Amino acid sequence: MAITTVLPNLQRSVAEFLGKPRKMLVDGKWVEAASGKTFETYNPATGEVLAHVAEGDREDIDRAVKAARRAFESGPWPAMSPSERGRLLLKLADLLESHLEEFAELETLDNGKPVFFSRIVDIPTAVDVFRYMAGWATKVEGSTIPISAHGAQYFAYTLREPLGVVGQIIPWNFPMIMASWKLAPALAVGCTVVLKPAEQTPLTALRLGELALEAGFPDGVLNIVTGFGETAGAALAAHPDVDKVAFTGSTEVGKLILGAATGNLKKVSLELGGKSPNIVFPDADLQAAIPGAANAIFFNQGQCCTAGSRLFVHKSIFDEVVDGVAQAAKRFTIGPGLDPSTNLGPVVSKEQLDRVCGYLESGIREGAKAVVGGHKRSGSGYFVEPTVLVDVKPEMKVVREEIFGPVVTAIPFSEPEEVVRSANHTVYGLAAAVWTRDISKAHRVAAKLRAGTVWINCYNVFDPALPFGGYKQSGWGREMGHAVLELYTETKAVCAQL
Ligand code: NAP
Ligand code: MG
Repeated sequence: MAITTVLPNLQRSVAEFLGKPRKMLVDGKWVEAASGKTFETYNPATGEVLAHVAEGDREDIDRAVKAARRAFESGPWPAMSPSERGRLLLKLADLLESHLEEFAELETLDNGKPVFFSRIVDIPTAVDVFRYMAGWATKVEGSTIPISAHGAQYFAYTLREPLGVVGQIIPWNFPMIMASWKLAPALAVGCTVVLKPAEQTPLTALRLGELALEAGFPDGVLNIVTGFGETAGAALAAHPDVDKVAFTGSTEVGKLILGAATGNLKKVSLELGGKSPNIVFPDADLQAAIPGAANAIFFNQGQCCTAGSRLFVHKSIFDEVVDGVAQAAKRFTIGPGLDPSTNLGPVVSKEQLDRVCGYLESGIREGAKAVVGGHKRSGSGYFVEPTVLVDVKPEMKVVREEIFGPVVTAIPFSEPEEVVRSANHTVYGLAAAVWTRDISKAHRVAAKLRAGTVWINCYNVFDPALPFGGYKQSGWGREMGHAVLELYTETKAVCAQL
C-alpha cells in the first residue's frame, strides 16, 4: 500500500523518503544489497509497512569494511587535521538540527514513540552529542613520560591514535541517539565506521547518511549497512578486518558478539540490558519521587536500557507511592506517536508486544497482581497498557529479567541495608536511583549500589559529558564524556634513546 494513503499528513520530505526503496551507504554511494533483497520496516502504531530497505548480508558487510579500510589508510581522511574532522561533525550537527522536524517525524513513524519526545529529546540529544564530540577531535592528547631504564637517557611519550575500522551495531529504542553515541566519538578521533542499525528502525540512520555526505565526509568514512542481526550484524562482529566492534542491545546478543569477535581478537565494547532499582526512602519528597518513578519506567514505553523497572519503596509509604504511580499510569494518553496528544505510544514491534505480554502473563500466573494495566490494548498497533505489578517475589521472571516494556514491579522494604542487598541482587548493573532528603544517606547508598550510573532525586538524566555504561552483565566500557575516547583509540608508547 502506498504510504501516502495511510498517512496523509506527512511532511513532504518524509513522504518522499518513504516513497522509494532505501539503499545502503557503502563507500560514499547508495547501493542495493548484493543479493538484491529488501526487507520491510513497519509503523508500530498500525502494523502497516512503512518502507522497503536493502537487506545487507555478509557480502555487503565485506564491501563496506573494505571501503572503511581504504578510507582509514589512504585518501583525505587520515590526512585531515583534527580541527577539520571537528568541523565536519559540527556541520553534520547543524544539518541535523535544521532537519529536526523531518527527523522527529521519521523517528516516530519507524519506532512508534510520541513525536513530542522525538522533537524535544531524541533529535536534539543526537545534535548535542555530535557537537560535544566534535570538540574532542582537537583534544585527544598523549603525554611525555619520565622513565628510569638505566644505561642511557631516553625521551618517552605516548600517542593516542584512532583504533581503525569500527563496526557499530545499534538497537531500536533510541535509533538516532544510539547512532550519535556510536558515530560521533569514533569519527571525532579519526576512525572509520560500518554502522548496522536495527532492522526495526533503519530509517533515520539512512537519512543521517545523506546528511553526512552533504556535510562532506569523505567516501568510505561512514558506511551504513541495513539488514538483520543474525546475518549482517553477525558478519560485522566476526569480520577479520574490523578492529573493534561496539554494540548496544540485549545481554544475550552481547555474548554472541563477544564470541564472534574472538577470531581476530577485535576490541569489544558492550552496552547491554538492565533491571535497574529505583529506591524511594520514607523521607523522600513524594511530590517528586512519584512522578519520577512513573517516568523512570514508562518513558519511551519502558523501552529504555536504564528503565526503573524494580521500584523499591519503604513499607511505610508503599501504598501511597504505588497508588501514585498507578494514577500516573492511568493519566497517559495512549495512541499513535504522530498524534500530538499522545504521551505513550506503541512498543516497537509485534515481537516486542508478544514478549512484554508474555512477561505479564508469567508474572500473573506466578502470583503477581496488576494494580493497573496488565494487558495489551485491543485493535491494531502494538500497544501495551502501562502496568504496575505488586505481590512479586525475587525469584519471579518479571523481577529478574529485562522486560523492556511499560511494566514495573513494586517491592516494599524496611531497612537501608536490606534494600541495597535486594537492589544489587541482579546480574545487571546499568543504573539505579535513590530518592531521599537525607544527603548523607543518598551518597552512602549511591556508593554501595553496583551500577554504572546512580541518580539521586532524579532519573534518566543523561549528558554527553557524563560517562555511561554498565557493571556486571550490563556491559563493558563507558560511552560519553572523555571516557569514550578509550573505546576508539590505541595508546602508542614511543621511546627514543638520546
Ligand atoms: P538485540 O537482538 O540485542 O538487537 C540489538 C542489535 O543487535 C540490532 O541491531 C540487532 O539486529 C543486532 N543483532 C541481533 N542479533 C545479532 C547477532 N547475532 N550478531 C550481531 N548483531 C545482532 O535486541 P532485540 O532482539 O531487538 O530486542 C530484544 C531484547 O533486547 C529487548 O526486549 C530488550 O530486553 C533488549 N534490548 C536492550 C537494549 C538496550 O539498550 N540495552 C536495546 C534493545 C533491546 P536486528 O535488530 O536487525 O536483528
Ligand atoms: Mg532484533
